[in-house]
Amino acid sequence: AIRLEKGGKSYGIHQVFKDLDLSVKPGEVVSIIGPSGSGKTTLIRSLNGLETLEHGVVYLEEKPFLAGTREKLAKSIRHDSADALRIGMVFQNFNLFPHKTALENVMMGPVYHHRGSLSDIRKDARSLLAQVGMLVHENKYPHQLSGGQQQRVAIARALAMHPSILLFDEPTSALDPETVGEVLRIMAALAKSGRTMVIVTHEMKFAMEVSDRVIFMEKGKVVFDGSPSLLEERRKQDGRIAEFVRI
Ligand code: ATP
Repeated sequence: AIRLEKGGKSYGIHQVFKDLDLSVKPGEVVSIIGPSGSGKTTLIRSLNGLETLEHGVVYLEEKPFLAGTREKLAKSIRHDSADALRIGMVFQNFNLFPHKTALENVMMGPVYHHRGSLSDIRKDARSLLAQVGMLVHENKYPHQLSGGQQQRVAIARALAMHPSILLFDEPTSALDPETVGEVLRIMAALAKSGRTMVIVTHEMKFAMEVSDRVIFMEKGKVVFDGSPSLLEERRKQDGRIAEFVRI
């Protein structure tokens, strides 16, 4: 479970959001949708400390994990690395290491953090590559793979540390249309297997089909937070949501 309480973030004088609350239960799949610039990426990056909040506290499994720089608690709460490793992240631009093979990319985290013998780590990494259908390409370098294939490796890499939560920041936005589906299928399978996932996405149909909850953000505010079926109903009444949520 992950929870943000009264999160606030600005870039200079531009306030991205303020007093923002977000709570994700174990096993829940939550998609964050909304127009460009509404703060979705900033929000998801704030959950694991890639962006520093000014205000607010992030709780991981009910324990304070990160605190805003303006928070009095800031001194007592740190971005503790052991906790941070429990959150896996998948980025828009894959962020694979270019000079490492697919297998080496997946093995890197566990090797660096001494998560077992090299042969056990390799075995686990190969099984994760198989899970995302990339074992046949295990010895290829990122530049030899399509965007969709790279993203599947990145998903295996995010799983390699056996995180309790997976964050996805627009995982298909940088892909060619023909490779979007293969990545969404992997994500749908992960969602079905009971993983806790937070997904920033513009893939409306996917969000509606796969999520337990959809959060609609606009100008730093949560304007809707509920089940896909409730969003479907709200869409009929709220012109602004209807305009954006076209399936
Ligand atoms: P998109 O769907 O286009 O990715 P988003 O909802 O994810 O948009 P964010 O990327 O979180 O929105 O950006 C929110 C606001 O903060 C935007 O106005 C953006 O220009 C601004 N912003 C984001 N990152 C920075 C930064 N590093 N420095 C200054 N402003 C930033």
